[in-house]
Amino acid sequence: MHAEDDQIPPFEPQERSASTIVAHDGDFPFGAVVPPIYQTSLFTYANYAELAGSFSGELRRPIYSRGDNPTVMEFEAKIAALEGAEAARGLASGMAAISAAVLSNVRAGDRIVCVRHVYPDAYRLFLKLLPRFDVSVDFVDGADPASVERALPGARMLYLESPTSWMMETHDLPLLASMARECGAISVIDNSWATPVFQQPLKHGVDLVVHSASKYLSGHSDTVAGVVAGRGELIDRVNDLILPSLGAKLAPFEAWLLVRGLRTLPIRMAQHDLCGTEIARRLAEHPAVSQVYHPGFSGDVDGTVLHGASGLLSFEAGPTVDIPAFCDALNLFKIGVSWGGHESLVLPASVVLSQAGGPNSAVDFGVPKQMVRLHVGLEDMEDLWADLDRAFSLATKT
Ligand SMILES: *Cc1c(COP(=O)(O)O)cnc(C)c1O
Repeated sequence: MHAEDDQIPPFEPQERSASTIVAHDGDFPFGAVVPPIYQTSLFTYANYAELAGSFSGELRRPIYSRGDNPTVMEFEAKIAALEGAEAARGLASGMAAISAAVLSNVRAGDRIVCVRHVYPDAYRLFLKLLPRFDVSVDFVDGADPASVERALPGARMLYLESPTSWMMETHDLPLLASMARECGAISVIDNSWATPVFQQPLKHGVDLVVHSASKYLSGHSDTVAGVVAGRGELIDRVNDLILPSLGAKLAPFEAWLLVRGLRTLPIRMAQHDLCGTEIARRLAEHPAVSQVYHPGFSGDVDGTVLHGASGLLSFEAGPTVDIPAFCDALNLFKIGVSWGGHESLVLPASVVLSQAGGPNSAVDFGVPKQMVRLHVGLEDMEDLWADLDRAFSLATKT
């Protein structure tokens, strides 16, 4: 191949629907319909001029897989297109994406405003690591714009997660993003729950989107990965400051799994929406349940910002439900952390509330001890409901 042939083509953002974006890739050698896994650490050059051109930036050729790798770039181009972003960067985990988004934008003396009920390890990043670098964090109720507005002046960053972990609190993204912009703060959102199929925060003025790609983007519970997407200049900061020094780059095989998983993202999300919302509705009517937390059920899915609901929801069981017995009585809902795959899962808040190694956002923001989180997977809805109903009757003390 000539150098001109194997240059990285410039990414052209296109306004296409999600189902079309995930169906097709770039052009690959031999007309392969699926991207090859470029399982290589380095790339070589035919001569000095190609090498020099790649280093100077004149040629856009991959150099080393901690930077550009063609398989990873396929994933990055898809996420950028799905989120309506200029660029995206794949990282080794959701937490690597979150720390990249934060650390590439803050410096000593800065303050972050963060919503309460944020993902527990993001909470630990803010309270354990960042204070060592003289970065402070104030927590606010993201569902209350007035409290966000009060905290913002002087802040470097507004960190959002909508809906939040456990409590599923949603934010008015256009309003909060414009408040941040007025104060000169960069807004960042964890969009793992909704995925770009149901929520495209950049279109509502948010500056950066981060994902745990381990969840719905992969969709098959077989990889840990992350991604950050936004304006080119913000992704360049990640490229300049984070990848060379912290190095938590997404690996080619993981990217390949992600591209494969993304093919079905829109239809999987439609199914999670249908099934999760119906389970939430039935839970709300069940005598053993005192409250259900699910945006698809509470009226937040009104098509302005949130266009659908995923399969992750939580509920508070009544005082007569024995939580350990309820978890043990379930067959189809497996006991475990994470979510976003094909399988249904249950996680009781009680174990998270007594987790070692704090700080603990579930404790500090008051997740109720009778709270249970469900991930409604892709199994038959009636089978899942029968499993839940049976577990309630076995675990309810009379
Ligand atoms: C799982 C998760 C993360 C962390 O992602 P990893 O891929 O596990 O590092 C971040 N945010 C949310 C909302 C998550 O559920």
